[in-house]
Amino acid sequence: MLANCWMGKKDVRVQNVPDPQILNDRDAIIRVTKTAICGSDLHLYNGFVPGMQRGDILGHEFMGEVVDVGKGVKNLRAGDRVVVPFPIACGACNACKHELYSACENSNPNAWMAEKLWGHSSGGFFGYSHLVGGFAGGQAQYVRVPFADVGPMKVPDSLSDEQVLFLTDIFPTGYMGAEMCGIRPGDVVAVWGCGPVGQLAIVSAYLLGAERVIAIDRFEYRLRMAPDKAGAETINYEEVSVLETLKEMTAGRGPDACIDAVGMEAHGHLPMYAYDRAKQAMKLETDRPIALREAILACRNGGTVSVVGVYGGFIDKFPMGAVVNRSLTIRSGQTPAHRYLRPLLERIERGEVDPSFIITHRMPLESAAEGFSLFVDKEDDCMKVVLEA
Ligand SMILES: [Zn+2]
Ligand SMILES: [Zn+2]
Repeated sequence: MLANCWMGKKDVRVQNVPDPQILNDRDAIIRVTKTAICGSDLHLYNGFVPGMQRGDILGHEFMGEVVDVGKGVKNLRAGDRVVVPFPIACGACNACKHELYSACENSNPNAWMAEKLWGHSSGGFFGYSHLVGGFAGGQAQYVRVPFADVGPMKVPDSLSDEQVLFLTDIFPTGYMGAEMCGIRPGDVVAVWGCGPVGQLAIVSAYLLGAERVIAIDRFEYRLRMAPDKAGAETINYEEVSVLETLKEMTAGRGPDACIDAVGMEAHGHLPMYAYDRAKQAMKLETDRPIALREAILACRNGGTVSVVGVYGGFIDKFPMGAVVNRSLTIRSGQTPAHRYLRPLLERIERGEVDPSFIITHRMPLESAAEGFSLFVDKEDDCMKVVLEA
């Protein structure tokens, strides 16, 4: 089969690899129909996530048709059309019982690697470094889905692939970003990053009752989509001071909640940006927390900072004094996407939201390298690339 393989920094190639096979009773094999390139794939592409090996198959946002199931999978059969959440979860451990599927205690065979870095391991994720299991991803014609009796959800024929594809990751992630804000009527929410997760966090914040959402980015086309498609007010951080502008927009108080939908490769133009770039390049810190610092400093006293951008390791100059002295709450997590599949599918079915508005590029799987390059360089107003396998 064809699969998009990570071959090194800024080098992905679609090549022929062996077809996946059922290895365990609870596996299923899915023929992928649609798969997407995620912003978090760009961290792998840019070489910022440890534990990648040459030849790893990328992709954690995919859907398709079941072609084979192991003996232990009773809820799926060949021909079923499913979306597959990006975390791999056993459904029976302590974490899974508490619906913390992304922290499954049984799905990361390389837990020892993650424990060295994080103290404890997360669960396993598709197509995302050997730190989290080294599982082959779904930017491929076929993919093996472990614990297939727990993860995949059948989708109704009335909805198109593009309407449901983002249930695999970015819609639940944007939604969780907003949910963690504990939004109350009248709240103002600020969102750092107008990429796909940022756009869906804006939409979700409104679904959950925010009165105003203010979005922060620097790319004109993303700053256009935020008001046009998601209804946000915007700030271009290259033109004005974000902290001053947010104060002016909120009667000096700051937003009630701030969402970091940027993560470890944030950009900026202040001296702190040069500091972070240098430290990251020298491997003295793994992540550039420019958006996170700003979100903390901007948030109103007693407010919540919700972090859904991906961080891998360690950050520097973390404004803990602001957190403590101004009673901030920080919430974060890799999204336990399983938990959100059905409620968000229902919102799509009811017509409350159609996450496909973020798609700007559609291309065949064979063009994955071109898709990565467009997305990473933000060329051709690239917001979200969907690959057809
Ligand atoms: Zn993703
Ligand atoms: Zn589990």
